[in-house]
Amino acid sequence: MHVAAADVRSARDELTELDRRVGDGDHGVNLDRGMQAVAARLDDPSLPRRETVGQVLHLAATTLMSTVGGAAGPLYGTALLRASKVTDRTVLGPSGVVALVEAALEGIVARGKASPGEKTMVDAWQPAAEATERAAATGSGTDEDAVDVLRAAAEAASAGAEATVPLVASKGRASYLGERSAGTEDPGARSTAILLAAAVGAAKGPGA
Ligand code: ADP
Ligand code: MG
Repeated sequence: MHVAAADVRSARDELTELDRRVGDGDHGVNLDRGMQAVAARLDDPSLPRRETVGQVLHLAATTLMSTVGGAAGPLYGTALLRASKVTDRTVLGPSGVVALVEAALEGIVARGKASPGEKTMVDAWQPAAEATERAAATGSGTDEDAVDVLRAAAEAASAGAEATVPLVASKGRASYLGERSAGTEDPGARSTAILLAAAVGAAKGPGA
């Protein structure tokens, strides 16, 4: 969460610029506010210590829901809430990463009702979930393989986000632009790729 907060801070202006072109220009600022709040709550000594992945994700979910606003707050909040329910462990192996990403995707689809190809964050999460399943099926199943599964998710999310550029949006604020939404990467798909890449960096550990 701390790496993700730092990376969202670095990408804030880029995300805001994407959302300025196809939305209302608040995505970078909103997600930055939310991730800074998540990091601050994790560091707050007056709050109970989060021991499991699920507990951290639950805190992140409720914090993002109450601080991000717009479409992305409830979408990311629901994603992480669902993910928190399948990650009640201190260490996630490959199958735990698959469960996390699949649950997040299910939460986003349950909340936003978007299908792949509608130029939303689903276009990053859907290929990410498929990539984790493939990566987990080929690995040996040890906890170390979890980083490879996470990396597969991040790479698929990034490719999925880039593939939203030519798409015409049919969900969310960008859909108001109709054909004019084509030519810009979806901001939520880009932020998804940033968050998953941050997870890879954190999972590898310092110096790796
Ligand atoms: P808002 O559009 O309310 O200003 P944000 O700017 O925070 O919200 O987030 C916009 C992003 O939310 C979009 O780029 C898209 O990825 C995502 N989004 C919007 N609507 C949906 C939906 N129905 N399903 C999935 N993702 C969506
Ligand atoms: Mg917006």
